Amino acid sequence: MLIKFNNDATKLAVIGSPIEHSLSPLMQNFMIEKLGLNYIYLPFHVEKGNATKFLKCCDVMGIKGFNVTMPHKEDIFSSVSKLHGDAIKSHSVNTANFKDGEWHGYSTDSEGFNLSINEHNIYLNDKNILVLGAGGAARAVVLSATNNGAKNICILNRNLEKANEICKGIENIRINNFTYENITNEFKKADIIINTTPMGMSGVKEDFLNFDFMDSTKKVVCDLIYNPRETNFLKYAKEKGHFTINGLSMLIYQGILSLEIFTDTKIDKIEMKKYVMDFIN
Ligand code: NAP
Repeated sequence: MLIKFNNDATKLAVIGSPIEHSLSPLMQNFMIEKLGLNYIYLPFHVEKGNATKFLKCCDVMGIKGFNVTMPHKEDIFSSVSKLHGDAIKSHSVNTANFKDGEWHGYSTDSEGFNLSINEHNIYLNDKNILVLGAGGAARAVVLSATNNGAKNICILNRNLEKANEICKGIENIRINNFTYENITNEFKKADIIINTTPMGMSGVKEDFLNFDFMDSTKKVVCDLIYNPRETNFLKYAKEKGHFTINGLSMLIYQGILSLEIFTDTKIDKIEMKKYVMDFIN
């Protein structure tokens, strides 16, 4: 994509390690152009441990806001002066915005996930939710489930301490080991199943060892991975007759929500999502 910009354009950024694969610069610059805004959005490879240093340099570089991806979400959570909404609940920041002389921290991941399922008329309220994995993405999904009145949540993860951390303050949640026996049992009980592990992602060697755990009662099966658009997890779920959703819509919605914060504008999310989808898909 060829980006046109003025020298006085307001600078936005995304930081991460790795950052080369990120779709955010393409997506955000497309939306900026579509909305006719005088902004430019740039990627920065920032090594683990350097996120706070980056934030401190933003003033000098004229960067007014930035998105935060792996592995910096917790570091930026600790570095901003004011935290808002889901950032407080999820203990992580994916959107840092400089306003009125200080840095504000937000998290748009869980609302992004919720919008990505709502567009298919799927809602988390009163549902039994199974979450595979217990990293940052799982935290966002669990927050979405609690914010939206899920009936029961189950997390399966290798590292139970990490899963336990997510459960703090939540009553209707339980955890167990990530074993194929447990996945099979919990899959049966769930209405919505979400893979938040990177298994099956492009560039990741590991994948599920088998998909025998997927029974055939119709369920909603989500994978937060968007590259490839259809992981083996989703492919097999579709073959079994489940309704499948990949991570692309979540990515786009969290980006639109961030851009609303950076630019203090209201964006028609459904319309913008369609434009972005056509552009990057
Ligand atoms: P993370 O913090 O590193 O967490 C990864 C989780 O997956 C951990 O709980 C880990 O278990 C588990 N896991 C990893 N490999 C596994 C394996 N071989 N077997 C079983 N469990 C395994 O990563 P994250 O930030 O949550 O991201 C996870 C995925 O979500 C990535 O693919 C990322 O691209 C995607 N994502 C998508 C969006 C979107 O907008 N669509 C947003 C955020 C993330 P242990 O705790 O036991 O190590």
